[in-house]
Amino acid sequence: MAVSKVFSAEALIEAYEAGLREFGENYVQEFEAKHPLVKHLEGARFHLIGHLQSNKSKKAAEIFDVVQTVDSAKLARRLNECGKALDVMIEVKLSGEEAKHGCAPEAVAEVVEAIRACDRLTLRGLMTMPPWDDNAEAARPYFRHLRELGVRLGVPPGLSMGMSHDFETAIQEGATHIRVGTALFGKRVKRAA
Ligand SMILES: *Cc1c(COP(=O)(O)O)cnc(C)c1O
Repeated sequence: MAVSKVFSAEALIEAYEAGLREFGENYVQEFEAKHPLVKHLEGARFHLIGHLQSNKSKKAAEIFDVVQTVDSAKLARRLNECGKALDVMIEVKLSGEEAKHGCAPEAVAEVVEAIRACDRLTLRGLMTMPPWDDNAEAARPYFRHLRELGVRLGVPPGLSMGMSHDFETAIQEGATHIRVGTALFGKRVKRAA
């Protein structure tokens, strides 16, 4: 997936013309501004990969095709109430870091159950973001843990993990979606939203 956050709609369109079809954006508000300029792109799918506050779930459901960051039963139900069919993934927090979003591994089963009870949501798999480390090998245990968790819980086989600096490791560990920003678009200079 091409992570186009902070870059313009023009950059996203250029990536589309180069053949990319899956796009990741972090901020609902930022993508709301770009959406009118990119929604006509045939076959393009837009994934929300940043944390979603439940008060923004309606807007998110309108402009995204996939929400990769469902991390509670409550958020799943909120999205379901928006009335649009959505693919979803569960964001799992595998490190003890306070600042990160995502549901604890012990809570994933409950979120899986909640999503299965939502008629408009289709669960596609799990997503994670390991603690930042320059060394891609440091992320390997997290990627492996996510895969094992998915197998253990009988979750559909999607695994969204790996970014510019560690996607090769993620693929070795079974990633189905790698989220690549910097390696495609260059360094992000500022946060737009
Ligand atoms: C920004 C971001 C990425 C892309 O990171 P790069 O290092 O630029 O490839 C991937 N996943 C998430 C959740 C992000 O916020």
